Amino acid sequence: MSTIADNVFRVSARIHDAAQAAQRDAASIGLLAVSKTKPAEAVREAHAAGIREFGENYLQEALEKQAQLQDLPLSWHFIGPIQSNKTRAIAENFDWVHSVDRLKIAQRLSEQRPANLAPLNICIQVNVSGEASKSGCTPADLPALAQAIAALPHLKLRGLMAIPEPTEDRAAQDAAFASVKTLQDSLNLPLDTLSMGMSHDLESAIAQGATWVRIGTALFGARDYGQA
Ligand SMILES: *Cc1c(COP(=O)(O)O)cnc(C)c1O
Repeated sequence: MSTIADNVFRVSARIHDAAQAAQRDAASIGLLAVSKTKPAEAVREAHAAGIREFGENYLQEALEKQAQLQDLPLSWHFIGPIQSNKTRAIAENFDWVHSVDRLKIAQRLSEQRPANLAPLNICIQVNVSGEASKSGCTPADLPALAQAIAALPHLKLRGLMAIPEPTEDRAAQDAAFASVKTLQDSLNLPLDTLSMGMSHDLESAIAQGATWVRIGTALFGARDYGQA
């Protein structure tokens, strides 16, 4: 069985190779380790292997892990669906939120971001697969949402996040990720972040401009059946 350190090495090599193939600087691509459903010990192992940025989907689980890992200098990203009654704890305990898809949530996060913390980094999740996915704003709604979020005082709009419909077809992966990049460029806002690419499609995402790849399975192994 491979260790988390082995996996970090392998994923880093994949990122490096994909960057090289795309003639991009590998340092411009961040590795976000998605630790949902995995214990604090796994995060500790990944930290020991050089990872600093962790993504979580479920608030309660994330808060418990953060409490167990307070001794480590980690950065936390919320990447799951957000209910409005969870925004305060997210605003107080995370550095980034990748999954904002409506203004009401962004307004609450801005109002609830503690004044002593830096603005919360935000990606707008956009749904580029139509019916196939329920989360994310539609491409049609994106421009107005992005303008409104960019104006909120305690948030810093960094870019877009997408989870295209899973496929092993490289051309289809490329087309979906390219459409996210095109949407980003069409906004005419000073954005520097494209959060896209997971264990099975990070090569395509990097070829199309990803700056965060969100990697769970390839670092921590398969998640238990029944867990997202
Ligand atoms: C679970 C999850 C990931 C990681 O997916 P893997 O296929 O395990 O790499 C990435 N992004 C989001 C939003 C997730 O929910």
